[in-house]
Amino acid sequence: MNDLVARRRALLGPNVSTFYDEPVHVVRGEGVWLWDNDGRKYLDCYNNVPHVGHCNPRVVEAICRQAATLNTHTRYLHEGILDYVERLTATYDDPLKTAILTCTGSEANDIALRMAEAMTGKRGIIATDATYHGNTTLVSHLSKSNVPEVGFGLGQYFRHVEAPDSYRIPDPDGQRFAEKVQEAIDDLERSGIGFAALVVCPLFLNEGFPAQAQGWLKPAAEAVKRAGGLLICDEVQSGFGRCGTHFWAHQKQGVTPDVVTMGKPMGNGHPVAGLVTSAEIMARFRKSFRYFNTFGGNPVSCAAAMAVLEELQEKKLQAHAEKMGLLAHQRLTELAGKYPVIGDVRQSGMVFGAEFVLDRDSKEPAVAFADRVVNQMRQRGIILSKLGRYKNTLKIRPPMPFAEEHLDLLMTTLDEVIGEAAVSI
Ligand code: PMP
Repeated sequence: MNDLVARRRALLGPNVSTFYDEPVHVVRGEGVWLWDNDGRKYLDCYNNVPHVGHCNPRVVEAICRQAATLNTHTRYLHEGILDYVERLTATYDDPLKTAILTCTGSEANDIALRMAEAMTGKRGIIATDATYHGNTTLVSHLSKSNVPEVGFGLGQYFRHVEAPDSYRIPDPDGQRFAEKVQEAIDDLERSGIGFAALVVCPLFLNEGFPAQAQGWLKPAAEAVKRAGGLLICDEVQSGFGRCGTHFWAHQKQGVTPDVVTMGKPMGNGHPVAGLVTSAEIMARFRKSFRYFNTFGGNPVSCAAAMAVLEELQEKKLQAHAEKMGLLAHQRLTELAGKYPVIGDVRQSGMVFGAEFVLDRDSKEPAVAFADRVVNQMRQRGIILSKLGRYKNTLKIRPPMPFAEEHLDLLMTTLDEVIGEAAVSI
């Protein structure tokens, strides 16, 4: 293990992140399970990339079959991309019926921002202040914690508004958030830059997936529309049925975005990502920018992505996510009854977690405690992580086939680990 850490550092450079005090060296995956190089088995409660399960046989077979038939760049005619985009856009409401396929979520967000400039003739972009949207020069400015030291002077075009936090800042109907967005719009307009788009993950997943009533995002979406800007929903994490009640999280929020970007789970690990938008926005973008992506939407990518959609729909994994989210919430609430260190419990389908606090009145984040729990869980064979502004909230976001028996193992182990860690708070 140490040898691999040293080789990574030497070959890939410093600051290449790994998880855990003792990183895991994984060599095999199947369903919701991972194995390390010593043959030890881990329950994967974290990974949303293998959305329909590690090495899902349908996806593996689709990739192999297409790779053995044809794979090439995207300037030839091929029905694979058309069949896929038809099936994908059938999951979207009007007018989101045209798509661009890319290889990463970052590229998709980059295109979305350029679409906003093409449509509005303006460049001002608003995002929330504790999230991540990707790594291109333009897109990296969306992530406040990641703003590059060298960034081609693009920082002037970005404004950040406070991410919602249902535990600490009451905003039951989204009005407060909408006011913050309006202030940022006004600021961009006053500065002469002008307002082009608001970019949000509809569940604010990286920011701790605050509890929100259905339709919570509507007031902010209306402010964006009034100002003539685009609403871009980044569904790289929240999409493909994960939120349970809906296939796309913006549908849960009761808004129709102008652009929706996707990635991570889309090809179950195969690098395929993309966006959907209206025919009007697509036409304007295609006119202003002759976009071509060598690999984006190639025949193998589309075969992988199609198999993911088929698997989700045939196995009814969205409804399964809804059921599991409710069960997980119940189990976490039981733990909160036992351990005062759990200040809040949240779920949105197949993503759930608990926020650790040192004191329920002051809500002071128990950051070191969360870190200890995550590392102890890893030592006991359960893979999960933490997130949110203070990094004190458990991030439990398993592959979609995660079932009740897995939840049982997760919660029993969590009970033991919190119990032991709580002794030394
Ligand atoms: N958007 C969100 C919400 C993400 O979580 C990520 C990746 N963590 C991205 C965009 C970027 O995707 P990619 O790494 O495929 O470029």
